[in-house]
Amino acid sequence: MIVSDVLSVLDAWAPQGQKADFDRVGLQVGDPSAEVSRVLVALDLTPAVVLEAEEIGAQLIVTHHPLLFKPVGRVTATDPIGSLVWRLGRAGVSYAAIHTNLDAAHGGVSFALAEQLGVTGAEILSPLEGVMQKVVVFAPAAAANAIREALTASGAGQIAEYDACSFTSTGTGRFRPSEDANPALGTAGDLEAVDEVRIEAVVPTWSTSRTLRAVRKAHPYEEPAIDVYDIKNAATRQGYGAVGVLEDAEPLPRFLARVRDALGAGALRYVGSDDAMIHRVAVCGGSGLSFLPAAIRGGADAFVTSDVTYHRWFEALDHGGETRLALVDAGHYETEAITETLIADHLRAHLGGLEVDVTRQRTSPMRTFAG
Ligand SMILES: [Zn+2]
Repeated sequence: MIVSDVLSVLDAWAPQGQKADFDRVGLQVGDPSAEVSRVLVALDLTPAVVLEAEEIGAQLIVTHHPLLFKPVGRVTATDPIGSLVWRLGRAGVSYAAIHTNLDAAHGGVSFALAEQLGVTGAEILSPLEGVMQKVVVFAPAAAANAIREALTASGAGQIAEYDACSFTSTGTGRFRPSEDANPALGTAGDLEAVDEVRIEAVVPTWSTSRTLRAVRKAHPYEEPAIDVYDIKNAATRQGYGAVGVLEDAEPLPRFLARVRDALGAGALRYVGSDDAMIHRVAVCGGSGLSFLPAAIRGGADAFVTSDVTYHRWFEALDHGGETRLALVDAGHYETEAITETLIADHLRAHLGGLEVDVTRQRTSPMRTFAG
């Protein structure tokens, strides 16, 4: 097995195209064609994680947070980021990140966090917007099945829990081949009228090129008529955060204890009324405060995320100063540590023969002091 085999499995699960614009994911250091038999998974790339990879003989490290996030001006042994790149190179260890593309995946980071907290029936809290297109293909009826199959196989036609979604209507296609054309049907210079079908399916933007290649391959015409246009529908399979329910509603203090214990958090910061009952729960692993409005709109009794700064706590209050929902900051590391197991389990399930280790390091440098 080589590094690119592992990257392909990650990309099929959490396509790089669905990452946030600001993000950098995928292979960051190393060689896609290098042999790999053992992978080490961690939330962050730290010196201790690189050392651990060397000790256990891992040829690839996969982390959630990308090491190379901002552009670097140099790679030397004396700066914090460059020294890690240098060490990886010297050790022959490749390195990849799977970050907001995994945050945005159905079943990704926030779904794992929801499950960890005992939240069931999870759905995406804030679906991705502006990422859906419609592909419309005109073809002779005899080619319809092959084209529908090509659409499905290339990732088009997925709507929530349904795949192979398409619509087919019938009509008449007209065209006149030029003297230089090489038409599958018709004669140069003659206007042709053919019974055709119109097949349409939705596709996420990052799959559109692959879909167009597959459709052209399945299409009998020299120049297939294909339209691609942006649609305003939100994605149904990609988005940030998750929202679901606890089996039974519970008072906020019991819910806070649940979160603390499930995540191994030393302390929680929160805004909320201690007599509030918590049933519907929204979560977003990591810095998810921008999804607070979605949690409120979605009727959540509590929203668990991290990195809430002082002034933003007030966003959980209404105009009268009452809490609109319980807002809980459980820590960035704590809300995302489950990601290590999530990635490792996925690799084990899809790459038999690959040894996958979760790091023994607690990569967060931050501690809480409780006296
Ligand atoms: Zn994070």
